[in-house]
Amino acid sequence: MTPLAAKLAARIEADGPIGVDAFMQACLTDPEHGYYTTRDPLGAAGDFITAPEISQMFGELIGLWLAQVWTDHGAPGAFVLAELGPGRGTLMADALRAASRVPGFAEAAQLVLVEASPQLRQAQAERLEAYTPQWAPSVDALPEGPLFLVANEFFDALPIRQFIRTEAGWAERCIGLQDGALSFTTRPAVAPELAFREADTAPGEIVETCAPATAIVNQIGQRLAHHRAGAALVIDYGAPLSRGDTLQALKAHQPISALATPGEADLTAHVDFGALAAARGPAEAAPLTPQGVFLERLGITQRAQSLAARLTGEALTSHIAAHRRLTHPDEMGRLFKCLALHPTSTATPPGF
Ligand code: SAH
Repeated sequence: MTPLAAKLAARIEADGPIGVDAFMQACLTDPEHGYYTTRDPLGAAGDFITAPEISQMFGELIGLWLAQVWTDHGAPGAFVLAELGPGRGTLMADALRAASRVPGFAEAAQLVLVEASPQLRQAQAERLEAYTPQWAPSVDALPEGPLFLVANEFFDALPIRQFIRTEAGWAERCIGLQDGALSFTTRPAVAPELAFREADTAPGEIVETCAPATAIVNQIGQRLAHHRAGAALVIDYGAPLSRGDTLQALKAHQPISALATPGEADLTAHVDFGALAAARGPAEAAPLTPQGVFLERLGITQRAQSLAARLTGEALTSHIAAHRRLTHPDEMGRLFKCLALHPTSTATPPGF
């Protein structure tokens, strides 16, 4: 049993079963034993790898996207450039390097990062030193001003609840104890927000909700509408509608049971993009677009070709594989989706 499993077992023993949300929150951000509190999980030696770590092209294209939208919105002279869950700072470093070709963009940006992990905050401080980043504890604590925000693989780490359709309404899937070990169980639930899912689910099916995610998107939407300039780009794996159990644990790049090693494996769930878009409040949402299509429209093939011209041998082979991995429908191209929010008074951003 991991130290966190023992801590959770004691809590369940005393107070009864906990929701998947409380379990996920403890696994990822418990102050003592949480996965993100205690390590840098990224890269080949870590548990998973993300798009900006696969190729510099990902961050570069997002940087040019941000600079284009900023220009289209009248190039505000001071704005907040925010990233949620910036990992090692790779995406933002690549983005700012590319966007710095657009005169005035980097100078007008106040870089603010929202990051739970002390280790990763340190990595971000080193990687982004030239841009003097600040950190904010949450989206509602971001400084005032027009907001340009990006979040790659952030929303999948927010705690979800799982509901199982039964013959008599909904039950909540939760974590209890069986013979002293953590084990899935259910408890009756009242879930009026799921009434609309009675039309398209059958008894036995699971649907997931993520209240922290919709709350964050609503705050972003309010901010965008208020300033009438700015945009948010959310990239993650997920679908237009939650369906089925997507809770997933990864350790050393291999899937394992979510209950096996609490605090020592990455724990995520697919993002319900329909719920995110519906939470946008007074802002506009661009059509949900697969990552492969988005990157293609932003010119990843041209960028890949120009980088390829300078490469040979193994470096060239791995560059070609990285391009494929980011864009091909059988790799990240289709499962990963892009959602953009923008003020209603502004045009749909490029790539959508
Ligand atoms: N965007 C990066 C990292 C993705 S991993 C990339 O694409 O490489 C998820 C990131 O979100 C990590 O930086 C993690 O520490 C951070 N994170 C997870 N839950 C968080 C929370 N509740 N608040 C702030 N940051 C969080």
